Amino acid sequence: MRAECLQFAIDNYVTDGIYGGLGPHERRALWPADMPARRRQRADAAPCGTESGYTRHRRWGQAACPSCLAAATRASQARRAARERAKVKAGA
Ligand SMILES: [Zn+2]
Repeated sequence: MRAECLQFAIDNYVTDGIYGGLGPHERRALWPADMPARRRQRADAAPCGTESGYTRHRRWGQAACPSCLAAATRASQARRAARERAKVKAGA
């Protein structure tokens, strides 16, 4: 469990918090040498202007760019609207 936790943090370049008993600086030492290339691949996988793009910005400790911010706002509004519709259907 501990090792899985640590692996998750390394794979996702989590830069804050304690994972698998290691803090950010200790984990950074374990990041793969090819990390910049892997980061670029992940950027392609989660393009800007999508909610996953927004998540990527936040995960990397960046401020989200305007198009990602707009996409995240739209997605959360859509989720809220879906919740409201479900409530109406349930008669609440
Ligand atoms: Zn973006």
